[in-house]
Amino acid sequence: MRNTGHPAGSWYAATADLPETRPALKSEVQADVCVVGAGFTGLGAALELARRGAKVVVVEEATVGSGGTGRNGGQVHPGQRREQDWLERVVGAEDARRLWTLAEEARANLHSLIGEIDCDWRPGLIQARHRLVGAEHEAAYADLLAERYDYPLLEVVDRERMTHLLGTDRYFGGLIDHGGGHLHPLKLALGMARLAEAAGATIHERSRVTGLEPGRVRTAHGSVECERMILTGDGYLDGLVPALETRVMPINNFIAVTEPLDDPTILPSDMAAADSRFVIRYWRKTPDGRLLFGGGETYTPRFPADIAGFVRRHMLGTYPQLASAAITHAWGGTLGVTTTRLPYVGGPMPGVLAAAGYSGQGVMLAPYFGRLLAQAALGEAALLEPLKRLPTPAFPGGKWLRWPALAAGMSWYALRDRL
Ligand SMILES: Cc1cc2nc3c(=O)[nH]c(=O)nc-3n(C[C@H](O)[C@H](O)[C@H](O)COP(=O)(O)OP(=O)(O)OC[C@H]3O[C@@H](n4cnc5c(N)ncnc54)[C@H](O)[C@@H]3O)c2cc1C
Repeated sequence: MRNTGHPAGSWYAATADLPETRPALKSEVQADVCVVGAGFTGLGAALELARRGAKVVVVEEATVGSGGTGRNGGQVHPGQRREQDWLERVVGAEDARRLWTLAEEARANLHSLIGEIDCDWRPGLIQARHRLVGAEHEAAYADLLAERYDYPLLEVVDRERMTHLLGTDRYFGGLIDHGGGHLHPLKLALGMARLAEAAGATIHERSRVTGLEPGRVRTAHGSVECERMILTGDGYLDGLVPALETRVMPINNFIAVTEPLDDPTILPSDMAAADSRFVIRYWRKTPDGRLLFGGGETYTPRFPADIAGFVRRHMLGTYPQLASAAITHAWGGTLGVTTTRLPYVGGPMPGVLAAAGYSGQGVMLAPYFGRLLAQAALGEAALLEPLKRLPTPAFPGGKWLRWPALAAGMSWYALRDRL
């Protein structure tokens, strides 16, 4: 999917103070580091590089934050996308601990950005279980994080309290992660761009990168001669580095926003919520009392014609009482996932560092991973090592799940949600 800018129905674009478009790259320029893509990863890298005194040029196909970064649910999930007990089994206890530490550093990094940028941060993330079974695992996981990872912020919630917390009886219990929360992702991205520019970075918009050559990044009307390149792009990467793109699959996800609601029982607190489905449903209230609800995925380059109707089905599955609520905004976006749901971090070509495939965990991780890529570009590569070892094997069948078997596989998992 090509990124052409903020989608027409975006509530984020409607409520952020969008700046004038920045000039496209139309000449040959020189930089220490060229960053491809101005989402959370690219902006995190640019900010670190500029603050460390490096000459950095960012080239963005569309506009700042108009990829997954400015279209997402704004939910901040502490930890990695996989639970620590799973990571201990798959990558070993030592790397699992390093990955937890990195995720906690990412959380601290995010809070330091929130301290500089007004982006409507609200703490608290409710994790709602859609199946009867699972309470024992939740209690054991809360204990594991408290005892082995010094993270006492998971609170177990029974069915009755969950019903009250959410304003729906569709869930059987779950957890509150008091370290999580939610924010306005586009305000955060625009703020990061402003800070990076204030520190000396140059950002070119409407400048699609068409080729990477040793020491040179090419766009249609210009080029950046540079010592190092940081490649981002996540679900929007298309045709630049095939070896990376077979590991990071683009999938589409959709969000709808209702009119301001007058039912005070629906998610009465300021917390965000997400459920345990494979095709996850996630929601939160906006500061003016609307419900921002995400749900539904597609695995082809096309979006559904009626996105509001597509998301409404999922929303009514959780809140049947919203049948007559008007949807005022609806949009879709593309994100990168990997086979293991662990991010891809590496050097796909000589002189190029890249990170992508956060699999729905990028709001917290991506700004920090961008920062780590920047540090590696400046010669401090050690921190990247546990990330480079993460298993992210290639998807069989190529980019858009062309193999019917794979598409069927995703549908099978989605079907299990309904069993
Ligand atoms: C609908 C939706 C809901 C989501 N909800 C959540 C959530 O609640 N919590 C969470 O943690 N994560 C969520 N995510 C995922 C999150 O948005 C991503 O993990 C994150 O934005 C990744 O940031 P990024 O900078 O790597 O990629 P992006 O934000 O996608 O940015 C990549 C940028 O690269 C640019 N680009 C690509 N190719 C080129 C090129 N050739 N030349 C120049 N520029 C190029 C693109 O235009 C784009 O601006 C969601 C994603 C979507 C789509």
